[in-house]
Amino acid sequence: MSGVSKIRLISSLEGDRIRVQMPEERFLREVEASALELGEASALSDADKELLALALQLKPLGQVELVSDDYSVQNMAEALGIGYRGLTTRGIQRRFKWLLYCPGCHRVFDRPPIDGLCPHCGSEIKRKPVEAHPLRGRKTP
Ligand SMILES: [Zn+2]
Repeated sequence: MSGVSKIRLISSLEGDRIRVQMPEERFLREVEASALELGEASALSDADKELLALALQLKPLGQVELVSDDYSVQNMAEALGIGYRGLTTRGIQRRFKWLLYCPGCHRVFDRPPIDGLCPHCGSEIKRKPVEAHPLRGRKTP
């Protein structure tokens, strides 16, 4: 867990002022659904999700770029078609999906259990990246 990630939203929206606003509920839901799909749900803070949702919401209005060194945030931005870059890192080169698995009984999970523990044997669920895709490999709607 990376703790609070340093994250910024840069946009070319008119006014060019940083406006603190909450994303609309439907964008937050889209981000959460995508986070579950990618196995990033447990890696993202509420603030990360809100910022991703806000970027998604603002995207049709102008150029939006997320700045974050958090690989989970970058992975999410990539999947959601949001522009991003890292502050110090060069960013992820490939998109990946997290495989959630139990190191105790070797079961694999589609989504993380609420408490992060295997419901079968009680071990802590681990994750590893799988299924690398070339960047921009998937067509965007
Ligand atoms: Zn288990």
